[in-house]
Amino acid sequence: MRTLLPHDERQDVTLRPAATAKVWLGVGQAHETVAVPGVGLGHGDVLVAIELSTICGSDVHTMQGHRTAPTPLVLGHESVGRVIAIGEGGTTSADGEPLRIGDRVVWSVTVSCGTCDRCTAGMTQKCHTSAKYGHVRIGPRWELTGGFASHVHLRAGTTIVRVPEALPAAVLAPASCATATAWAAVARGADGRSLEGKRVLVYGAGLVGLSAVAIAADEGAEVTVIDPSASRRTFAERFGGTAAVAATGPADIVIEASGHAVADAIAAADVGAAVVLVGSVFPAEPVPLDAESVVRRLLTVTGVHNYTGTELAAAVGFLAGRGRAYPFADVVGAVHPLEDVDAAVAAAAASDAPLRVALNPR
Ligand SMILES: [Zn+2]
Ligand SMILES: [Zn+2]
Repeated sequence: MRTLLPHDERQDVTLRPAATAKVWLGVGQAHETVAVPGVGLGHGDVLVAIELSTICGSDVHTMQGHRTAPTPLVLGHESVGRVIAIGEGGTTSADGEPLRIGDRVVWSVTVSCGTCDRCTAGMTQKCHTSAKYGHVRIGPRWELTGGFASHVHLRAGTTIVRVPEALPAAVLAPASCATATAWAAVARGADGRSLEGKRVLVYGAGLVGLSAVAIAADEGAEVTVIDPSASRRTFAERFGGTAAVAATGPADIVIEASGHAVADAIAAADVGAAVVLVGSVFPAEPVPLDAESVVRRLLTVTGVHNYTGTELAAAVGFLAGRGRAYPFADVVGAVHPLEDVDAAVAAAAASDAPLRVALNPR
């Protein structure tokens, strides 16, 4: 983890009233409220007042104990907010312009150094010194680390993307997980080639899958989306896909966004196809692989985890542009006050949960 500046080199920002963070202590325990009366901003750090956060499926998995996480922890990594303080030296948004107080922004889930071998190789989400919002234990100098809070303390090395005032918060909050990850998955599958007329098959109509459907359909692909849930299949049609319960023919690009259909995804790939695995973000049984079949079909099987800052900016560009044609605003089915985080989490974990449940701290 990046070394924090000595206290005297940090710019103290006092918050009145104090910021509040909802801290998760472990499986089965209610969130604790922690008041944070001030933060020390290092060079290039940014303090953001959160407008809305959405609860991602991985937050639910963590709280159910399906993923390990260091506690105490402020969960949440899908948010939109407004810049209220900037550390000494300032910083720039992803467009290269200086970031200003009052800017409405979304930000990358990872903090990256920009100089290690992984960062310079374009894998900034796997930076050797990386920290992740919503995934790190809170510490004495860095309490506001996640989205289930009134404010978040963004560290230097975070990609910050300015967003239009006109876009609904419900569209923007999931950008920093679902939409950007979907963008990265579609880009990996396309590998620089046009998607016009390509047969794209998406497994899983969760928000990553639905976002991938819209992104690929908008590029001219013929998208089929497979999901066992009738309501999600209906949603998928509105995002530009043809919904089905099983693959109906071979595909040029297969995106496995559920984590539960890896073998089916590989089986559905046509000769020369790319299979993008993006949904396997929780422990699962190993999947048998018919290597001969992969060889004979000239398949590319690739994994995508999170995204780069460039991909986040591109995903936001899509949401602000052609993505307006798709019902991204409708994915948030309920908004709870931050104070009711435990009820919100229960709603997000229900079997008939909407695609996203949101938390509003204001
Ligand atoms: Zn997520
Ligand atoms: Zn790095």
